[in-house]
Order: sequence, then C-alpha cells, then structure tokens
Amino acid sequence: MLNIIPIPAFKDNYIWVLHDQQHAVVVDPGDAAPVRAWLDTHQSSLAAILCTHHHNDHVGGICELVQVYNVPVYGPQHEIIPCVNLAVGEGDEIEIAELNLRLKVLDIPGHTHGHIAFVGEKSVFCGDTLFGCGCGRLFEGTFAQLYHSLQQLAQLPGETLVYCAHEYTEANIRFSLACEPDNEQLKQRHDDVRALRAAGLPTLPSTIALEKATNPFLRCSEPEIIRTLRRRGLTRSDELAVFTALREWKNNF
Ligand SMILES: [Zn+2]
Repeated sequence: MLNIIPIPAFKDNYIWVLHDQQHAVVVDPGDAAPVRAWLDTHQSSLAAILCTHHHNDHVGGICELVQVYNVPVYGPQHEIIPCVNLAVGEGDEIEIAELNLRLKVLDIPGHTHGHIAFVGEKSVFCGDTLFGCGCGRLFEGTFAQLYHSLQQLAQLPGETLVYCAHEYTEANIRFSLACEPDNEQLKQRHDDVRALRAAGLPTLPSTIALEKATNPFLRCSEPEIIRTLRRRGLTRSDELAVFTALREWKNNF
C-alpha cells in the first residue's frame, strides 16, 4: 500500500514522500539531510526523486541524494537543474516500478517558466503553483500562464488530493476571507486549519474540490470576489483581470 507523508524542511517546506515501507520516492528535496534521516529511520531505499521547478528550496538536496543513492531524477524539461537526469514535460508518463507507481506530467508554468506537476494515485504534486487557499507568486511567467495553469489543476477530479510544497494555508485564508468574507465553506476551513495548526499538524493535502470551494484564485468568476475587487477599483470583470487583481493585491497583503 502506498503512503504519502511530509518531511518538513526549512521554515515551511514539505518534502513529500511516497512509500510502501520498503521503497520511497521524494518530491522536491530542497534539503538532503532530513530525507536521509527519514530513509535511515524507516529502513527504506530511495527509488526516485521528482522535482517540480528549479528553486533552491526544492532542488538543493538532489545532488547529495543522487551521490548516495544513484536514483533517477525526474525534472522539468524547460529548466536547467543540476543532477536531474530525466527531463519530462506535458503528456509524459513516468513509471516507478519499485512502488508500482505511474504518474503523468502536466506543464503548469507561471511561478517559474518550466514548472511541472506530477499527477497519479488520485493525487497531484503541484510544487509552488497551487497552495492551500492560495497560489504561487509569479516569478517568470505571465498572469495568463499562471491563471491557465491553475485552471488545468482545477480540471482534475474533485477528490484529487493536493500536495503543495509549502505550509501557507493559514496565512492564505486571511487573504481569502478578505476577498470573500461570506463564504461559509471558507469560514469552516479557517476553523479547521487553525485547529490543525494549533495541534502542530499539516493542513495538507487538501482536495481539488476544497480548493475550488475556498481558494479565491480558483474562483475568479465568483460575484462576491468581483464585488470586493470593484470596491478596490477594478473596472473589468473577466476572469483573467480578476485573477491579476487578486494576485497583485495578495503580493501587498
Ligand atoms: Zn518556488
């Protein structure tokens, strides 16, 4: 049976581990030390590394892990990342035999120009593109690209588990509530997330359905969000204009 657990790293990163007690795959190992410690403690062997984009807090541990474990490293074909040896992009399928695991690759540019996601096992590993109640900052792409990438993720089945690379949900919900103060599901999520954090637990994974119900960046046609933005001076109401206004407001929130 496949388990998926987070290894916390740095201030708020999660390195997701897919494992069956024997073999493990890690996603975005920004730091090798906690991954090595986990593998030692759980007497598991590393089968592969997956990488969503080139930022150092996601890739910084890859070369050390490859030196020790000599495993395949799947990463985005449009980015240059040291020690990635299998470049993948939209439509590619990867197979990790040790875990009987098949994952599809989606191109989801915006946060970085070559950012990819891995989809399979009713799960999506979406790096820094979609967060709990938020989305990644725009570093290399355009607003339209990031908007389109989020729409791609929103089209996954509602029950798909969303494994984001940072624990940002609680702070993101404060912004989401400013956008949409009357959203009952969002208020409920706020309570749930505060309880999880107070207990020291992750707020992830969420689901695509929960994000579509509570994440303003996936709700750009929602009348309450548009009304909020109109009060802040937005004159257009097409979804890309709403998304752009949300992303810019969030940068300064
Ligand atoms: Zn990043």
